[in-house]
Amino acid sequence: MKKRKLLIIYYHEVVEQGCGYSYQKIEKDKFEEQMKYLSENGYQTLFFSELSKSLPEKAVIVSFDDGLKSVYDNAFSIMKKYRIKGNVYLPTAYIGNDEHFMDWNMVRDLCDSGVFEMQAHTHNHTDIRTYSVEDMLNEVNTSAEILDKELGFDPSAFCIPFGMYDRKSILKLRKINKYKYILGSYYGRIPENRLSTNVLPRIGISNDDSIEKFVDKIEGKYDWKGILQRIRLLLCNCKRERITEYKY
Ligand SMILES: [Zn+2]
Repeated sequence: MKKRKLLIIYYHEVVEQGCGYSYQKIEKDKFEEQMKYLSENGYQTLFFSELSKSLPEKAVIVSFDDGLKSVYDNAFSIMKKYRIKGNVYLPTAYIGNDEHFMDWNMVRDLCDSGVFEMQAHTHNHTDIRTYSVEDMLNEVNTSAEILDKELGFDPSAFCIPFGMYDRKSILKLRKINKYKYILGSYYGRIPENRLSTNVLPRIGISNDDSIEKFVDKIEGKYDWKGILQRIRLLLCNCKRERITEYKY
């Protein structure tokens, strides 16, 4: 029998037309059209905590990077309307400490609604390739302690900031053995038997995507690009290019 595959898509901000701060934003109307498409076409949205069971058909994780405030202001009501589950990766240092990000009350609202689940995204949102073994441990532990204190939640997924990693940083992360799922940022879908052994693909959706392009992306028509994206990452790693600043 053919193995079922998991699709993970991600957004940053869901905004009113012409608004927003991050480099990757989507207007509310377009976002709604996409959520409507998922709900009307048999896609089954999941939380990471549900991945231990076998995957349903057309399984998709809808996710948001960074916990920006517009997820609360604009995405939440649309997700509720179409009964779409959402997952947010929180860089814990920013939550409640920056006006563009949610505070913990908003995050708790999202979780209590049953529509959202939170996951890990380091504490400081920095390039994990720059971490020593100790840095990695600090980032993982600080993030876990805050998520536990604020939400009483133990994350199972870790989204790599900027989708940038190398072999060494993944080894350091795996050694800590905290997360079952590690998420990169490249085109592709992953068979269910490899969910906890690979850095998982995660497909970004942007405001430039027409509904046709969105459908092509979720149906896997661009998955071939994942190879090119990973070659590009290898080249960056060879040149030792590192991201020093978080810009949203
Ligand atoms: Zn991020």
